[in-house]
Amino acid sequence: MKILVLNCGSSSLKYQLIDMETEGVLAKGLCERIGIEGSRLKHQPTGKDAVIFDDYQEDHSVSVKMVLDALTNPEHGVVKDMSEINAVGHRVVHGGEEFASSVIITPEVIKAVEKCSELAPLHNPANLIGIHACEKIMPGVPQVAVFDTAFHQTMPEKAYLYAIPYEYYEKYKIRRYGFHGTSHRFVSEEAAKMLNKPYDQVKTITCHLGNGGSVSAVKNGQSIDTTMGFTPLEGLVMGTRSGDIDPAVVTFLMEKENLKPEDMDVILNKKSGVLGLSGVSSDFRDLESASEQGNERAKAALDVFAYKVAKSIGAYAAAMNGVDCIVFTAGLGENSGVTRQEICDYLGYLGVQIDAAKNALRGEAMEISTPDSKVKVLVIPTNEELVIARDTKELLDK
Ligand code: ADP
Repeated sequence: MKILVLNCGSSSLKYQLIDMETEGVLAKGLCERIGIEGSRLKHQPTGKDAVIFDDYQEDHSVSVKMVLDALTNPEHGVVKDMSEINAVGHRVVHGGEEFASSVIITPEVIKAVEKCSELAPLHNPANLIGIHACEKIMPGVPQVAVFDTAFHQTMPEKAYLYAIPYEYYEKYKIRRYGFHGTSHRFVSEEAAKMLNKPYDQVKTITCHLGNGGSVSAVKNGQSIDTTMGFTPLEGLVMGTRSGDIDPAVVTFLMEKENLKPEDMDVILNKKSGVLGLSGVSSDFRDLESASEQGNERAKAALDVFAYKVAKSIGAYAAAMNGVDCIVFTAGLGENSGVTRQEICDYLGYLGVQIDAAKNALRGEAMEISTPDSKVKVLVIPTNEELVIARDTKELLDK
């Protein structure tokens, strides 16, 4: 069985074609600037050179068509024709309270995802455009939706309710949802395998640290808390997002600077985080080198970041009454030994000890704690596309 995994953004589309016999990636790629001048498709067949197709992509249907053409292209393709693609798995950002697991896409599912668009106005509509484009270009091919929020639907009420008048939860569904669920689920499952323990008997804290970041408490196979909330803005300090702040700062700033809600939204989501603090960059590689060269604000931004992650880990060790294992994943979590070390330096009281030599390695799943560390510390590359493909296969096999 071959499954096409799609992640549609408002002007982009990422894809992977996965052969489920081997779980190997046959090809992957990215369409950029959809509907904007200068659109391009970068197609990477595994083991061959990447190719660029620069025909104009007017909308996502054109992009899906181009992806299928690339996948079946006599020179750069990896399958003979479209009929070899058995199903499509879509990443969908927000499943609200409607979806606690992945589902086969039906007209009812589409309606429910549309309903969740109010909660994720930037993401869900783009995900839906991708679904409709596939219906048009590949009619009859089964499609599955895999939600970023689904894994966190096991959070108990005490973790997801905000202490604002309850009527706003009832009226607008304002509560904590959490995101990056596919990644937290994948790495927590992998961690249990690496520890040789049943998934439902391990307390894991997963740190997904990329451009966006979140920490989750996964107790006995279930997410019981996570740092992102109603939107991905809550929680950690991120590349450009503020993370937690006193909500009074928002109204104070809006009054002082005469800002509209949409201006405030841009400040908190795009101009804050380590970018806003440092004034240097949202990219941690730039911040690490600026800090090494003596830039004080870059150093402060990195310190604020690591401190916040460490505090979240401490909070979740309390929430689970203990922790067996801490996992680092995503761009920064997988690659930056410096950040992992800085975070783990706070965790001595938990009995966390890092092996500096192992922490300097990169690229594959590994344990970086010392043999006598009370808590195992693991680095596990995330693979959200593989989870989407596995869920899609599992639903079709049923
Ligand atoms: P997202 O999927 O959220 O866009 P990623 O998981 O790809 O993000 O992570 C991207 C971030 O990872 C970049 O902003 C960069 O700061 C960080 N990163 C990647 N490689 C390194 C590295 N070698 N050292 C430090 N940071 C890194």
